[in-house]
Amino acid sequence: MTAQRSRDGALEHLKREGRIVVVGASLAGLRAAETMREKGFAGSLTMIGDEPYEPYDRPPLSKQVLLGNAVAQHTALPRRRAIDADWRLGVPATGLDMAARRVRLGNGDEVEYDRLLIATGVRARPWPNEEEGALQGVFVLRTRDDGEGLQRALAAGPRRVLVIGAGFTGSEIASACRERGFDVTVAERGSAPLVGALGGVIGEVAAEMHRENGVDLRTGVMVTRLEGDPAGRVRAAHLSDGSTIEADVVVVSLGAQRNTEWLTGSGLGAGPRGIACDAGCRAFDIRGIVTDDIYVAGDVARSPHALFGYQFLSLEHWGNAVAQADTAAHNMLSESADRRPHLWVPAFWSSQFGVNIKSVGVPPMGTELLVMQGSLTERRFVAVYGYQGRVIAAVTFDNCRWLPFYEHQIETTAPFPPPFTTVDRRPEGNKPVPADFPDPSIPSHGPTITLSGYSPADRKMTFTPARH
Ligand SMILES: Cc1cc2nc3c(=O)[nH]c(=O)nc-3n(C[C@H](O)[C@H](O)[C@H](O)COP(=O)(O)OP(=O)(O)OC[C@H]3O[C@@H](n4cnc5c(N)ncnc54)[C@H](O)[C@@H]3O)c2cc1C
Repeated sequence: MTAQRSRDGALEHLKREGRIVVVGASLAGLRAAETMREKGFAGSLTMIGDEPYEPYDRPPLSKQVLLGNAVAQHTALPRRRAIDADWRLGVPATGLDMAARRVRLGNGDEVEYDRLLIATGVRARPWPNEEEGALQGVFVLRTRDDGEGLQRALAAGPRRVLVIGAGFTGSEIASACRERGFDVTVAERGSAPLVGALGGVIGEVAAEMHRENGVDLRTGVMVTRLEGDPAGRVRAAHLSDGSTIEADVVVVSLGAQRNTEWLTGSGLGAGPRGIACDAGCRAFDIRGIVTDDIYVAGDVARSPHALFGYQFLSLEHWGNAVAQADTAAHNMLSESADRRPHLWVPAFWSSQFGVNIKSVGVPPMGTELLVMQGSLTERRFVAVYGYQGRVIAAVTFDNCRWLPFYEHQIETTAPFPPPFTTVDRRPEGNKPVPADFPDPSIPSHGPTITLSGYSPADRKMTFTPARH
């Protein structure tokens, strides 16, 4: 029998009666499971999720749910097809034995696999002081339970809502609360909302949006302490500029932490930045050797992208979770020659203060910015980011019609500044300006894209070779 035929036989066997385990029963996990069944996987499929719910959608939690237009319990993800899985919900995976191909669960059970997909995503970064974070009225927003709790607190009619951190989620929360007529203060350590994700130029536009919509926006400040009343309810926050804000609802929106602790000691290349994998979604072990039976998808993954200098990208994007899950599932059930890379161009959307914001590419890589269409002051524009003479990203405010065009520009590494003329070009579109991103080594509310590549010019890391 030739090697090829025996490999085909192993794959056929896997597809017919193999055991696939998915850890993380949410968007990426579900979409991967659906793709596996679509590709004819007939073996056993186990879905392990630490939340007690079947997969639900998170974007509505900071939008429709907070506006009162939907309830958190009704955000279940639509199913593309039945997946005939053994659901192990409400129980976390607590360990991985790579040699024995076994996942340990919090209830003591062990589940064996032939192929494993890890899609454990991220969780909200908690308020650093545990006692203050436990005060009644203090929330984070990542899960359905978080959404339900915050929805209830808003239904009670708070006197003032304080949002700490003005990234996308914090800004959406502030927007929803203003739309419902609550007094809102936003405290942001950076110079403007969205500054880590879109840079200072667009951040200023976002700041105007906050202020025009009645948000009491405080930038360049940190909340240093949350204060409770004798009943354990939050009543005030103290800021680094000496001011105090009285608030009965506080939403901590300080970005996310990757759910990788359960892999500590497993030998997998997992850490606070996520789980490193190749472009085919195969996880690396700690030695940097690619595994062939463990795959990664969604927010927890960090993978290299040829379009962006092979830097490792960690994306907290809905569309990325779907696309990467699809690629991982395809590759898990394919011979190496048929595998494909996950080369999705990052894309993100948000809606806040009545404005539809979309981006493609990697804005934080941009050093320059040019408003190609429309105008920043009108808040209806296409801004293109440049990096080393090429188009690296584009952001639209209420102007997404042209986004596919700019996506193509990014994919084809088109020159920056773009040499062509555009409709609705204004004088501000004549000359690029610095995109004005804060120093990435200073932690902010967290951009939704993190670059964690290695540059030889970067002297912040030292590498100590192991001795044998
Ligand atoms: C409020 C909010 C608004 C958003 N809005 C947008 C938006 O407008 N646009 C956009 O592009 N994206 C948005 N996102 C991001 C988007 O929802 C995520 O990119 C997407 O959910 C990622 O899917 P995932 O399956 O990789 O991870 P997750 O959805 O985080 O799912 C991971 C799952 O794994 C579980 N898990 C973790 N550890 C373990 C363990 N050890 N054992 C078992 N299970 C475990 C987690 O509890 C979770 O259920 C938003 C996210 C939030 C929270």
